[in-house]
Amino acid sequence: MSDYGADLMAEVKAKNPGEPEFHQAVQEVVDSLAVVLEKKPVYRKFKVLERMVEPERVIMFRVPWINDKGGIEINKGYRVQMNSAIGPYKGGLRFHPTVYLGLLKFLAFEQVLKNALTTLPMGGSKGGSNFDPKGKSDNEVMKFCQSFMLELSRHIGPSLDVPAGDIGVGGREIGFLFGQYKRVRNEFTGVLTGKGLNWGGSLIRPEATGYGAVYFAAEMLGTRNETLDGKVCLVSGSGNVAQYTVEKILDLGGKPVTLSDSGGYIYDEAGIDRKKLAFAMELKNVKRGRISEYADKFKSAVYTPVDPKADSNPLWNHKAHCAFPSATQNEINAKDAANLLKNGVYVVSEGANMPTVPDGVEQFVKAGILYGPGKAANAGGVATSGLEQSQNALRLSWTREEVDNRLHGIMKSIHKQCVDAAKAYGTPGNYVNGANIAGFLKVADSMLDQGVV
Ligand code: NDP
Repeated sequence: MSDYGADLMAEVKAKNPGEPEFHQAVQEVVDSLAVVLEKKPVYRKFKVLERMVEPERVIMFRVPWINDKGGIEINKGYRVQMNSAIGPYKGGLRFHPTVYLGLLKFLAFEQVLKNALTTLPMGGSKGGSNFDPKGKSDNEVMKFCQSFMLELSRHIGPSLDVPAGDIGVGGREIGFLFGQYKRVRNEFTGVLTGKGLNWGGSLIRPEATGYGAVYFAAEMLGTRNETLDGKVCLVSGSGNVAQYTVEKILDLGGKPVTLSDSGGYIYDEAGIDRKKLAFAMELKNVKRGRISEYADKFKSAVYTPVDPKADSNPLWNHKAHCAFPSATQNEINAKDAANLLKNGVYVVSEGANMPTVPDGVEQFVKAGILYGPGKAANAGGVATSGLEQSQNALRLSWTREEVDNRLHGIMKSIHKQCVDAAKAYGTPGNYVNGANIAGFLKVADSMLDQGVV
């Protein structure tokens, strides 16, 4: 079996050179599936995993647009349609200068398993551009979005592929993208999620990923008869996921003490309360400012800029009970993981996708802490996107309470699926194995049913 896993990884690396994040994501799943593939040789016979690591379709295109000075700019656009075994493709769009094909393949691969865990009928995809919205005017962002969607609109649709937001793609970008889709296709359909409430969006969608990650942490704590009440929480990022993670931590009685962006982080020992959170949200969502301004406003906070030469991130080196990485991939390195454990952190619920390097994951699992990997813990976002699609199809809107209750129920179900699968395959309490196995089985069995396609 180990030969099978090693051979498969060698093939993935040879066929997808220069894509380390994709290799990393596949390796973790291959490791988790060793027992499953041994017990059920049918998956090997029909090369299910070999097919799952190959995208069904990759679309790459030029995105030309005109900046405010009249200059021509050219970006790259992508959509990776990874797997449609259990439903139409679904996954976010990321606008960030680091975006390239390998990054989107890792995200799309994770998305397939994540979407399977949500209990909703959604395949997996991911897309985006190396466009950087930071420092651009609203007009420039609109021009870019319109050019991006002019091409993307040929490849998506409500029963084909439904994109949503991710890093750099929030309510403003979804609005510009939706407007252009509607214009080009001459139809008003639920082709994007994360839409504004006046034009088909769902209540709780903006909150869903952060809320879901905190619900997942609460479920994990529940296995030890504990709650979030009184727990000190480290949160990274200050975007969509981080903001609503902080809000839900406050709802459940916890004490968030950090926020960050790519420039640095703030540590507020007194706690980030609702008033301070409102300031941070206005700062990030409206003024589009830097998190350092939080420390200018609130004297209880200390700002530490990023030190590019440092071997670890000091954000993860404070005494705390829980950590919610909510910024980006590989933001917790091996030393950070060791620092978290040293400081007493015993709950890690990943709002971001693959925020912990493999060595860090291994440390968490070995230490036996409550470690919820991103594809389980942050699945509340895409699950609520699925609920937005359902409301669009029914042409009605559910109340805030109704959507929140469904989200909460889905997070409980994901937690249970992870716990049950981990136990059934001999590693009780290992949420990494649990999430990978439960997600894989649903997709793999559907692929077997549908033949070699
Ligand atoms: P946002 O763009 O709203 O916020 C991202 C935050 O992370 C910002 O504070 C940003 O700082 C910081 N950040 C991004 N890239 C880096 C980097 N390379 N180094 C340091 N800091 C960085 O994105 P979201 O909150 O939507 O997404 C955050 C994470 O959650 C991502 O991993 C995403 O894939 C994941 N996720 C998001 C979902 C959603 O529904 N939005 C669903 C599931 C997962 P700065 O502004 O300085 O760049």
